Amino acid sequence: MSAPDFLIAGQGLAGSVFALTAIARGRTVEVVDPQEATTCSRVAAGLMNPISGPRLALGEDEEVLWSSARDFYRRWEKTLGASFFEERPILRLFTDQTQADRWNQRLRDPRYDPWHEPLPPDWEDRAPFGGFTTRRCGRLHSVPFLDATRAWLRNLGAFRQGRIETGAQTPLVWCLGHHARHCGPFAHVPIRPARGTILTIHAPGFHETRIIHAGKWILSQGDDLYRVGSTYEWEPSDASPSPQAREELTAFIDTWIDSPWNLIREEAAIRPMARQGRPILGPHPTDPHQILFNGLGSRGSLLAPWHANRLLDHLEKGSLAVPEFDLAVRPV
Ligand SMILES: Cc1cc2nc3c(=O)[nH]c(=O)nc-3n(C[C@H](O)[C@H](O)[C@H](O)COP(=O)(O)OP(=O)(O)OC[C@H]3O[C@@H](n4cnc5c(N)ncnc54)[C@H](O)[C@@H]3O)c2cc1C
Repeated sequence: MSAPDFLIAGQGLAGSVFALTAIARGRTVEVVDPQEATTCSRVAAGLMNPISGPRLALGEDEEVLWSSARDFYRRWEKTLGASFFEERPILRLFTDQTQADRWNQRLRDPRYDPWHEPLPPDWEDRAPFGGFTTRRCGRLHSVPFLDATRAWLRNLGAFRQGRIETGAQTPLVWCLGHHARHCGPFAHVPIRPARGTILTIHAPGFHETRIIHAGKWILSQGDDLYRVGSTYEWEPSDASPSPQAREELTAFIDTWIDSPWNLIREEAAIRPMARQGRPILGPHPTDPHQILFNGLGSRGSLLAPWHANRLLDHLEKGSLAVPEFDLAVRPV
């Protein structure tokens, strides 16, 4: 068998999206992953939220990020024969008056116009500082996406269970998330680990199908089950849920859910965070066969499709549209 155009280490969101994007461009790939049960991409909630941070800022690229992600997942739902993407409004509830005031200032900027509408009447009374409904947002169900991608790649003979530890002659795209700090040629790149914990609770009196976001979020899973997340613990010693994270999430649940609930499950994983919340991608400065796609941080489902395209543009045409993202240019 001839060598693929790209060997891909890791089948999380980065590796999966890069592989599918390369195949859509007529390239051949081989993806190698150890198939661990708990990974960052499998634990993730998959929210795609253009206005996610406490400062309620809308990034410059949100339009292209959202349309690339939506089109990518819709297209691949058809090809993979699986369902994993949904557009769903996010109800953003302000946590204090400062945040409400900040939002009023933001509204002077017409860029925000297409992204919001008023809170629905049933939440107006329950949100003491107000809020808004975020439009053009949704959710990737990451486990069905990753499983369908793996099965499809396997059918093509393009998936292998295993680990890659060193480089090869074939262009090798390293998509290892936080593992990149300990493995491969990009250990020098500043990926900062941040552990996130999510609780699954049973709350039969809550009755809410929309996504609730008030710094942390509540996500309906059906059958009165809700996922609630998530926390940030920097430089953790392991990927297990911590008592502090459980306490923080419990306080959040008690603020927004005023009916009885009980804990069903706790999960945690480590995000690969990069400076300024922007992915790090590009060939290694001294060995262009080694290529990095990492730093998806807390927004992998929204960021991966557009940035995978940019990376392939660069590898095929030699240009990254926004040079400061380039690994060779960006300070490491
Ligand atoms: C609690 C939590 C909540 C989150 N919520 C959201 C959210 O709502 N929305 C959102 O967009 N993002 C969210 N994220 C972030 C999102 O999960 C990440 O951006 C994304 O998963 C990173 O994907 P990745 O492929 O870079 O890394 P990973 O998912 O870590 O994938 C790396 C893969 O490489 C494999 N691997 C490791 N070593 C090797 C090796 N030597 N050879 C081959 N393969 C190897 C691993 O097993 C793994 O499968 C959340 C994350 C957490 C932890």
